Amino acid sequence: AQERYASIRDQPATTLCGKTIGMQMNAGLMADLPSLEGSGAEGVGLFRTELQFLIRNQMPRRSELAALYSSVLDAAKGRRVVFRTLDIGSDKVLPYMKPNDEPNPALGWRAIRVGLDKPGVLRMQLQALLRAANGRPLTVMFPFVAQYDEYRAARAEMDKAMAREKILGHVLPESLEIGAMLETPSLAFAPDKFFAEVDFLSIGGNDLKQFFFAADRENERVRRRYDTLNVSFLTFLEQIVGRCRTSGTTLSFCGEDAGRPIEAACLAAMGIPVLSMRPASIGPVKHMLRRVDLDALRDVIHAARDRGDMSVRASVMDYLRDAR
Ligand code: PEP
Ligand code: MG
Repeated sequence: AQERYASIRDQPATTLCGKTIGMQMNAGLMADLPSLEGSGAEGVGLFRTELQFLIRNQMPRRSELAALYSSVLDAAKGRRVVFRTLDIGSDKVLPYMKPNDEPNPALGWRAIRVGLDKPGVLRMQLQALLRAANGRPLTVMFPFVAQYDEYRAARAEMDKAMAREKILGHVLPESLEIGAMLETPSLAFAPDKFFAEVDFLSIGGNDLKQFFFAADRENERVRRRYDTLNVSFLTFLEQIVGRCRTSGTTLSFCGEDAGRPIEAACLAAMGIPVLSMRPASIGPVKHMLRRVDLDALRDVIHAARDRGDMSVRASVMDYLRDAR
């Protein structure tokens, strides 16, 4: 199988119906970057910046972060890297920050909520990113945005950081894209204005699924209870795709399901144009995508839905078996 994946490494993920799905990789450490060459990924669709904060025993300095982000951009050699700002709280607790005792951390003070309420670290991080870009294109994404005003406020922090950098005489990025993760169902129902304003959206499927089904992603008892190929969830994703198409918003999906070939094929069939996954999944997912007809797969999914099936998995498996 490894050889089979190697042979398609530099080929596009073009389906039998002629659609090409964007293949991006998830990363979080400098050590992940060499995979960008070897895996066949076209860029880094999700760079989880919190890992750098989690592996230390004290808060990193701005200059350290800037140096690190700069080497990430160097290693990417001009390919796009989506830096996700700090996503702490919930399952990710920094050893050097006072833990806050919350009854439901996953629903608590986390990610962009912390970044907006106590903006010191977010500001430092944005400044480090601007310095790292040093005139190159920069792409930043805010985690866990639940409503439009949070995106607006976070974006305003970036505007302020840029203004400050300009006064200090630093070069600004050649281009700047500011996106949001769609990982709470509420954001799918944000006003049209939000969809028009956000530069891109990336579905954080791990969290989105957790909140869609109200099933803790960390809890073994319920974690696998609801299938990603559940009709309600796929219908929801299809609605998000529809809103993004209407507004012309660039959309990707970066949860773990993007790296599972059958799930990935269904996500693409629902119209998600770009998938971001761990590097080792690029080969298997690309191999699958190159053998499916997304239009036919979408018909299979819709037929299962119209029949009232709970999950489309059985029908999709039948289709894939016959299609081979
Ligand atoms: C997600 O929620 O799907 C995601 C990509 O982010 P994380 O797994 O880091 O929460
Ligand atoms: Mg998440």
